[in-house]
Amino acid sequence: MRRVTIFGATGSIGQNTLDLIGRDPDSYDVVALTGGQNIRQLAEDAIRFKADVAVTADPELLPDLRSALDGSGVEAAAGTEALIDAASRPADWVMSSIVGAAGLAPGLRALEQGATLALANKESMVCAGALMLQTAASHGGRILPVDSEHSAVFQALIGEDMSAVERVIITASGGAFRDWPLEELASATPEQAAQHPNWDMGQRITIDSASMFNKALELIETKEFFQIDPSKIEAVVHPESMIHALVGFRDGALMAHVGPADMRHAIGFALHYPDRKTLPVERLDLVALGQLTFRPADEARWPALRLARDVMATGGLAGAVFNAAKERALDGFIERRIGFQDIAAVVEEVLSRVSAQPGHIDAAITLDNVLQVDHLARVRADEIMNDKRG
Ligand code: NAD
Ligand code: MG
Repeated sequence: MRRVTIFGATGSIGQNTLDLIGRDPDSYDVVALTGGQNIRQLAEDAIRFKADVAVTADPELLPDLRSALDGSGVEAAAGTEALIDAASRPADWVMSSIVGAAGLAPGLRALEQGATLALANKESMVCAGALMLQTAASHGGRILPVDSEHSAVFQALIGEDMSAVERVIITASGGAFRDWPLEELASATPEQAAQHPNWDMGQRITIDSASMFNKALELIETKEFFQIDPSKIEAVVHPESMIHALVGFRDGALMAHVGPADMRHAIGFALHYPDRKTLPVERLDLVALGQLTFRPADEARWPALRLARDVMATGGLAGAVFNAAKERALDGFIERRIGFQDIAAVVEEVLSRVSAQPGHIDAAITLDNVLQVDHLARVRADEIMNDKRG
């Protein structure tokens, strides 16, 4: 029996992970499940999977969680410390699928106890890639990518020599607004941005797909995870979302990973690695598909991609600032405090203000420093958004 823990179990990735585990329950011993506001789902899954503990991130919901778990034998806990405690419980395989920088600390703790960390939380790599890799290496842990593009790159690299890699291309669907006239983007609403053409994902990553901040984070994630020079990393728009990434080698070969837009492939790959087991995903019919198309990822339409280049060039804690500013600006857009195109403008302004203050972006990449610049970037983003409104 493999001991598994899922951070963000009530979310889109978490539920897909439980779907796979639930198909073979005798092989897994569920240690901890964590969630946020959705106490009903968290309690139901914790009972069904006989978890040792269920944790909600929100301390105010502890009484609700306690009563939902009453008599089940599942322990209830709440708050940031409880998330870290859950990560400290020995587990063999840990899914990191909290959304946002909040996923970093529990993921690091899981690595510190030597677990294999299945990483959906791309923000961890963007904020503190070097720290994640060092922590895994020094505690005998391992990180496996779950983001579909990075799982695809990882798979294309199996058995390959990194020095033979010439380029890595990750694909982007283009999100909800890929075909919108540029001049209409300013009036785009959160509801419109949350309609993804191909993938069924959480609200935040879906809006990030429309703005390409998701792809921007993924470019940085590619650099950090695979330790590849940014000049070798590209994004291309591929509206069908069938090819997830391609790796180009020095002999001119391009190895493409093709598969259905179903996260259970990447999750299942990370769950069974290094084995390949049967997964309940659609088998593609290439003839029915007919054609696969590609377009340039236009940096005028999607300034997030240009900002990602700047962040990769700066290095240090620029990724943590970028991510935190984006998270706050995204909140602002969802709350209708700013418009769709203001998201990138706010992030760019935060990067420039924080860079102008020495001692932040160039500080050592430690958890404390990440949390500090994360906080500072959020404060700056709020100032800028208030100015825009005022
Ligand atoms: P989601 O919004 O559906 O779920 C997020 C989960 O995190 C929920 O369980 C929620 O309760 C929990 N959570 C939210 N804020 C929290 C906080 N502050 N502290 C603790 N827990 C918190 O998100 P999702 O779409 O499943 O995405 C999860 C992660 O996986 C993100 O980093 C996302 O970028 C990445 N990802 C998702 C997909 C996808 O298909 N959904 C694909 C690739 C990568
Ligand atoms: Mg992705």
